[in-house]
Amino acid sequence: MTALADLLRKQIRSTGPMTLAQYMAACLLHPEHGYYTTQDALGADGDFTTSPEISQMFGELIGLCLAQAWIDQGAPERFALVELGPGRGTLIADVMRATLQVPGFHAAAELHLVEASERMRGKQAAALPAARPTWHDTAETLPDDIPVYAIANEFFDALPIRQFQRDPKGWREVMVGLAQDGRLERGLSDPAPIDALNRRLDDTEPGALIETCAHGTAIIDALARRIAGQGGMALIIDYGGWHSDGDTFQAVRGHRPVDPFAEPGRADLTAHVDFEALARAALIAGCAATQLTNQGVFLERLGITPRAQSLAKGLAGDALDAHVAAHRRLTHPDEMGSLFKVLGLYPGTESPPPGLDP
Ligand code: SAH
Repeated sequence: MTALADLLRKQIRSTGPMTLAQYMAACLLHPEHGYYTTQDALGADGDFTTSPEISQMFGELIGLCLAQAWIDQGAPERFALVELGPGRGTLIADVMRATLQVPGFHAAAELHLVEASERMRGKQAAALPAARPTWHDTAETLPDDIPVYAIANEFFDALPIRQFQRDPKGWREVMVGLAQDGRLERGLSDPAPIDALNRRLDDTEPGALIETCAHGTAIIDALARRIAGQGGMALIIDYGGWHSDGDTFQAVRGHRPVDPFAEPGRADLTAHVDFEALARAALIAGCAATQLTNQGVFLERLGITPRAQSLAKGLAGDALDAHVAAHRRLTHPDEMGSLFKVLGLYPGTESPPPGLDP
């Protein structure tokens, strides 16, 4: 049992079962006991590994994509370079290194990082010794007077979701309550019609389970309003699909799936990203959205193979094997190449970011 489990039990006893979103938010970001506030989440020693932690090529190619998009939009002389949920800071550090040679890019860039965890902010500061980033708790406070060039890798999957099961009488919401013996357990609310879910009545059957992420669409709204009005673009990279379909809520600890209710605050909790919902929110905010593209295809279009070959020339033995394996892991359809997807947001008057189709 964890200290957070005791707190959640007390809360449920006094106010009743909580939504999955309330549970996820407490588990991930509780100021004292949350996963991101207390654990070393990322990397080989942590609970999961992300693309920038697998190879420097990922951040380098994203950096060149950002720089090309900036050039394509006339190289504005001031812009916000934004990362949402930068983790250990590896991706943004690789982006900065890869763009050093792009004339004017660093002089024009103001670095803004959206990060809720103080502990993670410390790691990001250490990864960026030469930069002076501004940290934000939310996307709402990002600059509203200069173009915004934003990246988010494995950020949206960490945002709290709610789950609803379709019933002949409406929708039943998945709730977190208490079993007889006091353990936290999953339950279902009574069914009720929910207007906001009406559009999902056409493509689901009774019994189907869908997920919503209000937090994610609110962040896209804040980003897309800025991109549409001020210029710039965003790359959203994550696992998921075009549509939320089925239960994708999962807990991972030590690179293995675990029971999400067993030790709140000790495991990483995620859900697949519903890219259709994000693209809709962007369009409503006046921004254009690209086609959803597999990570492997996107990285190939940006030139990962020639970059991998050039890096391979300096390597031998185990280092070369690891490099070849990393290239495969990022791009191969059986690995992260097709599970991970990329969505680009951009002003409708401009061309889409390199590597993505309108
Ligand atoms: N992008 C990084 C790390 C992904 S882990 C990589 O690719 O390696 C998710 C990151 O998002 C962590 O830094 C976590 O602290 C942060 N985070 C999670 N939920 C957040 C929220 N609601 N608001 C701001 N940051 C959040």
